[in-house]
Amino acid sequence: MTVLDVRNVETFYGAIMALRGVSLSVEEGEIVTILGANGAGKTTLMKTIAGLMDPEKGQIEFNGVRIDSQAPDKIVAQGLALVPEGREVFPYLTIEENLRMGAFTRRGADIREDMELVYSYFPILKERRTQSAGYLSGGQQQMLAIGRGLMARPKLMLLDEPSLGLSPLLTQEIFGIIKRLNAEQGVTMLLVEQNANVALHTAHKGYVLEMGRIVMAGTCEELRNSEDIQEFYLGKQ
Ligand code: ATP
Repeated sequence: MTVLDVRNVETFYGAIMALRGVSLSVEEGEIVTILGANGAGKTTLMKTIAGLMDPEKGQIEFNGVRIDSQAPDKIVAQGLALVPEGREVFPYLTIEENLRMGAFTRRGADIREDMELVYSYFPILKERRTQSAGYLSGGQQQMLAIGRGLMARPKLMLLDEPSLGLSPLLTQEIFGIIKRLNAEQGVTMLLVEQNANVALHTAHKGYVLEMGRIVMAGTCEELRNSEDIQEFYLGKQ
């Protein structure tokens, strides 16, 4: 089943066209990655899907429902959570309060249970749950941002540069957890990454975005074997 269907999307900043007719799809249960250099339009694409920016043209369907003119909170309530670039945790709130913010579209009893689920993936967050999020390290803030996204009980999670600013070891750890959340909790993932090596060893399929256009698509194996990808994204001679 197709969870996300993006068709011919164009998004502008004033007169600047940042997305030039982007189409892609994500099937249920997949991890899909979008590769692209700085300024290719990756963040713009994530914001457009999450409803933080409105596309000028094209359409976006989530679980068969048009979402391209819906407000971001309505989109979250349908099960699509964005983990933004730079994490954007609330530094003056505690870890527990940050997690509660992730459940803001939901009412009711099982929030406690979901918090325990988040803590089972990220035990360090449980240990530090009463501390301000501003005191966490970069890697722990990334864990908190993912945890906060999980609190929305997403069917689809959008992750914008989860490895940004993290050491190779922490990057491996975060991607390991992304894989486990996909396999164990059935969360479909669409992730943007500059670290092509890690992304192409985690995802099932990928797209390459350049100057606001999708220029290549394939399974991760196909992309890893592509000479262009090896030269421009994997740094091989
Ligand atoms: P990065 O990896 O640096 O985050 P990106 O692939 O996410 O890059 P975007 O941030 O989506 O790229 O930017 C796409 C294009 O839109 C770039 O050319 C950028 O200069 C332009 N752009 C981004 N934000 C704005 C803005 N607020 N106003 C005007 N132009 C913008």
